[in-house]
Amino acid sequence: MSFEIPGVLWRRDPQAAEVPLVFDSPHSGTTYPGDFQFCCPLEVLRTAEDTHVDELYSAAPALGATLIGAVFPRSYLDPNRAVEDLDSALIDGTWPSALAPSHKTRSGLGLVRRVARTGIPIYDRKLGVDEILARLERCHTPYHRVLDEACRHAHRKFGVVWHVNCHSMPSQRSGKKGGHCADFVLGDRDGTTCEPEFTEFVARELRRRGYTIRINEVYKGVEIVKRQGRPAMDRHSLQIEVDRVLYMDQKTLEKSPGFDRLQADITELIEAIKGFVVARLEERKGR
Ligand SMILES: [Zn+2]
Repeated sequence: MSFEIPGVLWRRDPQAAEVPLVFDSPHSGTTYPGDFQFCCPLEVLRTAEDTHVDELYSAAPALGATLIGAVFPRSYLDPNRAVEDLDSALIDGTWPSALAPSHKTRSGLGLVRRVARTGIPIYDRKLGVDEILARLERCHTPYHRVLDEACRHAHRKFGVVWHVNCHSMPSQRSGKKGGHCADFVLGDRDGTTCEPEFTEFVARELRRRGYTIRINEVYKGVEIVKRQGRPAMDRHSLQIEVDRVLYMDQKTLEKSPGFDRLQADITELIEAIKGFVVARLEERKGR
């Protein structure tokens, strides 16, 4: 049974024999809510999206996995941030609980973003406490609830679950950031959100297809893998970032000719991960 919360998220359930494998795409939403009231140009705001990432992984349900995608844009509210990761300078009034702004918030990229990109503010106003609380209730809470339910369901049924948190990153090939140029960056928060074998397996499968990989560099994984990853309890969670230059024009956000090849490779990756999961389930049975 698949379902949708209009304007918020959708969940596509396995269309083949189910495996305990859940994918989610928290940043590919492109439906800008009417109450957003941003002041920067939409085309600049849209560069915050992981545009088309949900589509790159769209084969997951046909292969027996669950796929969840956000519909709201990440610049409206970021489900990959903790609810305390807020900038008090952005709030008109007093926040009802303690805040814990991370370095992301300090650079304007927290739960509620202050900037579309460096130097371009999203708002010409402060946001009301009720306005932010409403965004949390409407987007953040159900997103985490639906993802958590999907992972718990699989874990209950199979005793173990593997979750893949899917993102894309602005291309760093311009060389400005130097040294961190890779096609994919895998993040398991320095080995704390999944068994190391899973990270290594995914890295190996991508390398086999000719991609360059970095692990836990720049993109280590944030709130979503932190919440879902409990390797000691057989709940494994891995973040995958892919360089946007491989599949889209970073100015127009249109798919590039490379999209089809990348999507086909990601479909093969999902099949390989499914093989990993099935083999692990067999091993567990034999124990
Ligand atoms: Zn992302």
